[in-house]
Amino acid sequence: DPNAEQAQALNYVEDAADASDHPAYEEGERCDNCMFWQADNQGCQLFPQNSVAAAGWCQSWVAQG
Ligand code: SF4
Repeated sequence: DPNAEQAQALNYVEDAADASDHPAYEEGERCDNCMFWQADNQGCQLFPQNSVAAAGWCQSWVAQG
């Protein structure tokens, strides 16, 4: 849910391409290659109450180890 307050605070977008004007965004970064992605429920560990888009992005993106 992109309207969730916490997601908004982290500049979450449903389509990573929409983050291209964010200084922290680098091409290729998306939720489903982020350390916080949860493949089993299409979720994010930072937003446990909400689902996020596989192709989404937010400024807390961290590469998977
Ligand atoms: Fe997507 Fe990672 Fe941000 Fe969660 S922390 S919304 S998985 S980019």
